[in-house]
Amino acid sequence: MDELLAEQRRLEKDGSFKTAIKDVDKTLELLQAARDAIAADPSSAAITLAKLQTPVQQAFEGINNDLKKINKAQKSYDKAFSKKFDQKKAVPMPPNDPLAPHTSLINRAIAMHLLREGQFGVASTFIEEANAHPPSISSTRSFDLHQQQAWEQDFADGTLKSEVLQRQFSDMYYILHELRTNENLQPAIEWARKNAATLESRGSNLEFELCRLQFVVLFSGGTSGPPDADMDMDTDDDPSATQKTPPNPLDGPLRAWAYARSSFPAFQIRYQKEIQQLACGMSFYPNLTDSPYVSLFANGSAWEDVATSFTREFCSLLGLSADSPLYVAATAGAIALPKMKKYYEMKAKHKTEWSTVVEMPVEVPLPPSYYFHPIFVCPVSREQATDANPPMMMPCGHVILQESLANTSKGARFKCPYCPSESHPRDARKVFLA
Ligand SMILES: [Zn+2]
Repeated sequence: MDELLAEQRRLEKDGSFKTAIKDVDKTLELLQAARDAIAADPSSAAITLAKLQTPVQQAFEGINNDLKKINKAQKSYDKAFSKKFDQKKAVPMPPNDPLAPHTSLINRAIAMHLLREGQFGVASTFIEEANAHPPSISSTRSFDLHQQQAWEQDFADGTLKSEVLQRQFSDMYYILHELRTNENLQPAIEWARKNAATLESRGSNLEFELCRLQFVVLFSGGTSGPPDADMDMDTDDDPSATQKTPPNPLDGPLRAWAYARSSFPAFQIRYQKEIQQLACGMSFYPNLTDSPYVSLFANGSAWEDVATSFTREFCSLLGLSADSPLYVAATAGAIALPKMKKYYEMKAKHKTEWSTVVEMPVEVPLPPSYYFHPIFVCPVSREQATDANPPMMMPCGHVILQESLANTSKGARFKCPYCPSESHPRDARKVFLA
């Protein structure tokens, strides 16, 4: 890949038409000047044209050389590209691409991804084009039919759903922009207050996290956006005073104190310990850096942390996951690609077939954040646990599926397939995977 990147850099440097265009412009100027000279004095035509010959020829040569250089850079990149992504060496696509028939499902994932990424213009063009070319679905494929109906419900021309989603996501981006770029917590705090009941029922700490950061910002002498409307602060009458760092070193802690008095009572019960810590930290204000509370007040990732929490809560209130499913699927796919490539190569070489449709024939290691459901695969039957066939733990601690347990024990005392201990199937306990 490094070679290809080097070639790309060379292409960016040499493959541009900038110099060629400049040289063409220069030649045009030369010709125009000659034309003007002849127009002004027709008798000078012969000598002007004679004088023009050499510079024009040189100019053409220059342009030719410019083009040669571009051509060379393009060819060289093309060669490197073909070498890297050799079509002949490419792994053939699996004969039955399981996603191929589910156009509506894929369109939906793409549209939602664009909307939640804030690419509203691209999203509406995509939705428009997807509506102009609906997939042809035979009535026998009820799953796809259902998906297409769901798409039409949400994204067909003039439906409100996509507009509502767009509005919601533009709210989200506005709040995130204020957080990340302007270090302004107010819009996020307002949103959290508006949705306090729902957030509370989800056990979310978002509102407190935001208010705590606001407290820290004030304490350190910052303002972070307009002061809270219900804040009782005498020092804040003059708005220009909030623009610069307060001259008195006590101003910051006093502002923070005023903010805490107005905003923290609502959190008193649930976050008593955290509030106490902040209050204790305040007493160290002249040398906070040496106090045990320094981490509460100087947290480098605080803004990014609240932005992440906010995104997660905002999306979950819309019934969406914090990360775009398309992003997760594409990333997981990219991680799995080398394994899959190897598998298809092996398959082609040994002419073996993939025996089951629903199960991957190879294990694809993904990072833990990509595990969404704990899965138990029975070491005896190699089948995945289901509600009807749950994992069972024998007294020795080994776990197999209920069906395997029934098959191995045949209802009587039996020996564990993995250790010498014997037990009765009725002693096995069902295992619940959270
Ligand atoms: Zn055992």
